[in-house]
Amino acid sequence: MTKVPSVIHWFRLDLRIHDNLALRNAINEAENRKHLLRPVYFLDPEIKSKIGIKRLRFLVQSLQDLDNNLKKLNSRLYVIRGHAVEELFKLLNKWQVKYLTCQVDIDPIYVKQDEELDKFAEKNDIFVVRRVQHTVYDVHSVLKKNNGNVPMTYQKFLSLVQDMQVKDCIEITKPISEHCNPKDSDSKKYDVPSFDELDIDESALEPLKYPGGETEGLKRLNMYMARKQWVCKFEKPNSSPNSLEPSTTVLSPYISHGCLSSKLFYHKLKEALSGMRHTEPPVSLMGQLMWREFYYTAGAGTENFDKMVGNAVCTQIPWGTNEEHLKAWAEGKTGYPFVDAIMRQLKQEGWIDHLARHMVACFLTRGDLWISWEEGAKVFEDYLLDYDWSLNAGNWMWLSASAFFYKFFRVYSPVAFGKKTDKEGIYIRKYVPELKKYPTAFIYEPWKAPKSVQMAAGCIIGQDYPKRIVDHDKVHKDNCQKMSAAYKLNKERKALKRPLT
Ligand SMILES: Cc1cc2nc3c(=O)[nH]c(=O)nc-3n(C[C@H](O)[C@H](O)[C@H](O)COP(=O)(O)OP(=O)(O)OC[C@H]3O[C@@H](n4cnc5c(N)ncnc54)[C@H](O)[C@@H]3O)c2cc1C
Repeated sequence: MTKVPSVIHWFRLDLRIHDNLALRNAINEAENRKHLLRPVYFLDPEIKSKIGIKRLRFLVQSLQDLDNNLKKLNSRLYVIRGHAVEELFKLLNKWQVKYLTCQVDIDPIYVKQDEELDKFAEKNDIFVVRRVQHTVYDVHSVLKKNNGNVPMTYQKFLSLVQDMQVKDCIEITKPISEHCNPKDSDSKKYDVPSFDELDIDESALEPLKYPGGETEGLKRLNMYMARKQWVCKFEKPNSSPNSLEPSTTVLSPYISHGCLSSKLFYHKLKEALSGMRHTEPPVSLMGQLMWREFYYTAGAGTENFDKMVGNAVCTQIPWGTNEEHLKAWAEGKTGYPFVDAIMRQLKQEGWIDHLARHMVACFLTRGDLWISWEEGAKVFEDYLLDYDWSLNAGNWMWLSASAFFYKFFRVYSPVAFGKKTDKEGIYIRKYVPELKKYPTAFIYEPWKAPKSVQMAAGCIIGQDYPKRIVDHDKVHKDNCQKMSAAYKLNKERKALKRPLT
């Protein structure tokens, strides 16, 4: 008996049904040729050592939701345990695949997978279809329009895309024909892994504020888009780094995992803004989405975008190393309550406000600790639910004044910045409970509290809460001088066109 060939859609950062053209292409091909349809996701058994536990939980929930949504279409998700490319090659043979679809992902890990797949596909006569659907624009076309160069400013990026057409979103609603369903479609071995299988003790984790999945992402998008006035008045600089509830949308974890289409977000925003007076980029909500496109374009056009050395857009800065300071920063034990509260919120909840990210990123790098942005980016990669290769590296470069932003003398004060939006230190009291009873006068600078006040508040500095690890007023001035020297050296090197070492 001859075997019926299969069509594969390979899910990566597109964990959704809506606006998934690559998936629709796979469905159409299977339907037209009466082949079997297999939507697959590869889960590396080592994943637990590669991504933080909270992001893993978000991912598993997103896979579960995707499987449910595929089932509503009379299909299912095939979760394959194993290394993506190795397992894919085995399945391409086993399932006699001649047609495969996936989305264009620009992170180096996926670019490498694509290169390996293309070689295999060519040898084995497999047709691979890739669709741009993780960004609003095709970032490679944007680069081409700029003669292959990375637009180094946001305004330049906007001028490049201003007359580029944004495609419509597509929907998949028609159930898939029975004949496209493989016989093994009810096999348990392809089920989304349970937390038990992944050895995740859910009871030991904090409740998840932002559950994973397309359903949740769409719900969140619709909820915000219904608040038209809020959308029209949105101005990022007026958001708050330390409000107890987010002052921005928290759509980022959903967009990063592809549970929510950025293009759908774009069209819904256009709809909400239509005929209304509204704020404009860079501060508007549309402006935020364009920041994402900007960093994606830069990431796609720059080799070693997530590193300093070998990265053409990144200023070379002689950062220092200090394991103790790095650890204190990552664990929220710097002795600066505002910085510590932010890092502890990040660890507990997996999401922090953009301006809070500004504060801690500046503090780690050019502001206070003089530690490389690459170290900070790794910690964010571990803890952020919305971790995204381009956005993380791009924003870290911005905050450390290594690329895109050059006013290194503008430093965030770990004392004054938080006070602007939270004089009483309510946010600090929540995330640094040791300081809960501190009088407002000392909540941002507990080291200044007299011993009697420390005792009355039940928290002795240096004993129950750390002494500050650096003196901001002193170090930030020294660091400014070091930045100035690094800029000067980079300028000279560029002028001489000498390779950077
Ligand atoms: C040091 C640092 C690291 C960061 N790392 C990441 C990361 O790994 N992943 C990530 O998604 N964002 C990252 N950001 C960008 C930004 O902080 C988050 O996208 C934003 O806070 C997410 O919250 P939101 O969805 O409520 O944003 P909103 O303000 O509601 O904006 C809507 C969407 O626009 C996009 N967006 C907003 N701000 C930015 C920005 N500055 N750059 C690029 N896209 C933006 C996001 O997709 C976001 O979901 C980082 C910022 C800094 C300063």
